Amino acid sequence: MDVEVAPKMFRYMQGNGISYVIEDEKTVQIDAGAPTDKKPEAIILTHSHFDHTAFMPGCDVWASAKCAKHISVMDGATLVKRFGVEREPIEVTRILEDGDTIDTGTHLFRVIETPGHTDGSICLYEEKARILFSGDTLFNDGILGRTDLPTGNNVQMKESINKLSSLNVDILLPGHV
Ligand SMILES: [Zn+2]
Repeated sequence: MDVEVAPKMFRYMQGNGISYVIEDEKTVQIDAGAPTDKKPEAIILTHSHFDHTAFMPGCDVWASAKCAKHISVMDGATLVKRFGVEREPIEVTRILEDGDTIDTGTHLFRVIETPGHTDGSICLYEEKARILFSGDTLFNDGILGRTDLPTGNNVQMKESINKLSSLNVDILLPGHV
């Protein structure tokens, strides 16, 4: 079942997994931790972990260059071997870089590179609505993502959190709740 977490933005959950769908003039999905009943034009992956790619919809896939590299071969930074799960390699069709914008019609999302949880982690910020999709970088109550997994980095995490702390955020939408 979906929950409307902000106007026209829906959260789907299954177990510990989450997918967000932004139903704007253009429908986009963020992460694929749970099945959805929507048909997005593109899915944006916040990072390479298998629990964010479990229910990929058949559409364009956008991600950072480092995330794209990991999921193209399902390497150690996807955690598939570590957790003994199966995932097909994923081909990314658009590489997202820091500062890139994604215009869905009424919303404009800015890509913020936030390495630390993984080397290719990104967050998406909507300035007008003050919404931050934070992946596994930042959770509610100020809890930070793990940095002990492959490509995790504590120093980078601190820098990334500093970057995020300058944003005005009313609604934080993390990769797990
Ligand atoms: Zn993760």
